[in-house]
Amino acid sequence: MNKAKIVIIGSGPAGYTAAIYAARANLQPVLFEGFYSGVAGGQLMTTTEVENYPGFPQGITGPALMDSFRKQALRFNTTLLSEDVESVDFSQHPYVVRGTKTTYHADAVIISTGASANRLDIPGANEGEFWQKGVTACAVCDGAMPIFRNKDLYVIGGGDSAIEEALYLTKFGSKVYIVHRRDELRASKIMQQRAKNHSKVEILWSSVIERIEGDDIVRHVILKDLKTNQETKREAGGVFFAVGHTPNTAFLKNQVDLHDNGYIKVNPGTCQTSKELVFACGDVQDHVYRQAITAAGSGCMAAIEAERELSAREHI
Ligand code: NDP
Repeated sequence: MNKAKIVIIGSGPAGYTAAIYAARANLQPVLFEGFYSGVAGGQLMTTTEVENYPGFPQGITGPALMDSFRKQALRFNTTLLSEDVESVDFSQHPYVVRGTKTTYHADAVIISTGASANRLDIPGANEGEFWQKGVTACAVCDGAMPIFRNKDLYVIGGGDSAIEEALYLTKFGSKVYIVHRRDELRASKIMQQRAKNHSKVEILWSSVIERIEGDDIVRHVILKDLKTNQETKREAGGVFFAVGHTPNTAFLKNQVDLHDNGYIKVNPGTCQTSKELVFACGDVQDHVYRQAITAAGSGCMAAIEAERELSAREHI
């Protein structure tokens, strides 16, 4: 059995930052980068330009930023494992972290597995249909693709993400429709106002997309008005899901306390979960800010808290 003082699960800005701090504190961290999506680095790997990460006045691409985080973690001797964690056992100490190939016993664990964009099971939206052929869950990642240029685009959702994505898509599409299942948006007032004021954005209230059709790429959506049950077929160049995120906590099997919405509970102002010596940082415990910089900040907090707790218990 492999033994580590600290095991970090997840490789976005939170996980790599936790690794940098833990490594510099001489804790020789082991970081499971994950393999499910085929790439380590978390959500930023599917982003294009990151313009709000401080220190990069000209902006930087998401993958380049994550590559720098990763190199910095490696520079201080983090052990990186390209595998997913399948399960953990926090009922005994040292804790057990089981990867697809490797199992570790750990004195402390930092969970930084992030969150994934939700998708809807609409006919035409799945793999083998029009998924990634005009249907995506990230306008910011994919909106600049040529297939969306000067087309009518449809964003599903009524939260801040839906509005943000719709406004972003106005740069590329001829018109952007927000398809919302209710007649009231969930988004903040200021975002609602921006959408309503934009000449290229129109909100389709109490509506859903019933079907997506096309040939090689998306060509049409079948919309249904939920109040009249009337269906209409419209030309469409793209469909973008903005229906929230789900935190990646399935492997935990409820061994730490979660909020009702599935995010990990931490003590306010800390990264401490309900289990001692288990910390959570980044989007897996943050449904409010969800930014690379806040994720990185909380990764630093988690590592410092872990180091202090381990010192206090004379594990090091
Ligand atoms: P939200 O959970 O706020 O919104 C999800 C939207 O998806 C809701 O309008 C919901 O509808 C709709 N939805 C969910 N399931 C379905 C379904 N099965 N069919 C149709 N519609 C569905 O998620 P967001 O990602 O928008 O925002 C998450 C958090 O991030 C929020 O706190 C938000 O404020 C924040 N954020 C802030 C931004 C900013 O300030 N610039 C930008 C983006 C996010 P319904 O309303 O009917 O439940």
